[in-house]
Amino acid sequence: MNPRCCIAVAVAFALACSLPAQEPAPIRAKVGKAIAAVDPARIEATVRTLVGFGTRHVLSRTDSETEGTGAARKWLRAQFDAIAATTGGRLQVTLHDEMAPCVRPNMPKEIRVVNVVATLLGASDPERIYVVGGHYDSRNSTGEDGSGAAPGAVDDASGTAVALEACRVLAAESFPATIVFVAFDGEEQGLVGSGALAKAMAIAGKKVDGMLGCDIVGNTLGMDGARYDRHVRCFSYAASGSDSLGRSLARAVAFAARTHVPDFGVKLILRGDRYGRGGDHRSFFEQGYPAVRLSEPREDFSRQHQDVVAREGKPYGDLPEWCDFAYTANVTRVVIATLAELASAPPPPRVINAQLRRDRYDTELVYELPGNVAGCEFVWRETTEADWTHTIDMAAAAPQATKSGRLLATLKGVCLDDAVVGVRSIGADGSRSRVATPPEPDRFDQRPRTAAGSTETGK
Ligand SMILES: [Zn+2]
Repeated sequence: MNPRCCIAVAVAFALACSLPAQEPAPIRAKVGKAIAAVDPARIEATVRTLVGFGTRHVLSRTDSETEGTGAARKWLRAQFDAIAATTGGRLQVTLHDEMAPCVRPNMPKEIRVVNVVATLLGASDPERIYVVGGHYDSRNSTGEDGSGAAPGAVDDASGTAVALEACRVLAAESFPATIVFVAFDGEEQGLVGSGALAKAMAIAGKKVDGMLGCDIVGNTLGMDGARYDRHVRCFSYAASGSDSLGRSLARAVAFAARTHVPDFGVKLILRGDRYGRGGDHRSFFEQGYPAVRLSEPREDFSRQHQDVVAREGKPYGDLPEWCDFAYTANVTRVVIATLAELASAPPPPRVINAQLRRDRYDTELVYELPGNVAGCEFVWRETTEADWTHTIDMAAAAPQATKSGRLLATLKGVCLDDAVVGVRSIGADGSRSRVATPPEPDRFDQRPRTAAGSTETGK
């Protein structure tokens, strides 16, 4: 070996020894500790307690300590308050109590909804908010029945239990951004509680960078008799095309699960929700916030919105015996991994535009980074792929400052016309933000309409 080679090898060795990639990023230890604290027994106790109130219908009684929706929210508030008492004021619990319009048939035109809201204030970037919630209200076969039994164990005591357990675990830590844990009311009456809260947050100018709706996350026994307990479905709306803020959040959920909960999967469903169904994430999507819905892989519809009866020997009704609490604990781990990663990370970069070079198949991305990043990385995928398939580190993309003070990175060999590209921020602890992407080119709504109502697509 000649001397120059020796020096090169020595330098390479020294660099390899000093690379932080040799050690797990601090975010891994932080998230790992949180995930290890998830307690399936607490999730079970929450579901059974909520079921024990008989019904949590919005029209059920509010004058009892043991029955009806009033007792349910008092109990939920007490649980959040007990967590808050351990945080030195970092967790604040409030009731969002509102008379809101209801358009459901046979229901009053206005109903009272009371969301239980626990806010874990961010330490350094409290204006940036992540929301997680399940709905504590329930119903039976008759949508307006406020007195009959409506146990709502899977739909949605399970999602409420996820939010409460995630709060208990994450409130033990501090995060740069704010995390809001919500038990929503009035979901079964047309997303009334989440609609009121999302609207109030939008009017107040709240910056919600992600909302995770947990709804129907407890049953793993399919109607075909098979067990489905190794993944959770993640639904996300897109107003047009295949990309949206919600899809970006969905991919961040999948990334967090792959990174921190490797033995449990997230299945991206590139659709806002199930056919003919809705959920609280929709309320946040409608206010322009990134939002997704987490739901079990295979629903058993005999457990949802049903009176507790047996018909021809088959049991109906949403009871705790159909809940798989170990499964709900895994969904909680995915939620915790996502929230801890995103609330630890800097905000996503701001992408100005992307263009394909005219002299070779390289994509140039122009973007701005937030102030407190350690770096960033670039991702891309073919337009037909559901999730990011390629990562390019910052050094390989060699960002240059532009005349206007922005950054221009070069993604070598990435043909923008066939791919979706994006960039995410990396924090000093190795945490990753959501990916920010440039606008899609096929915005038909910006083009002149023909008389026939179709759109012009060419010159
Ligand atoms: Zn539901």
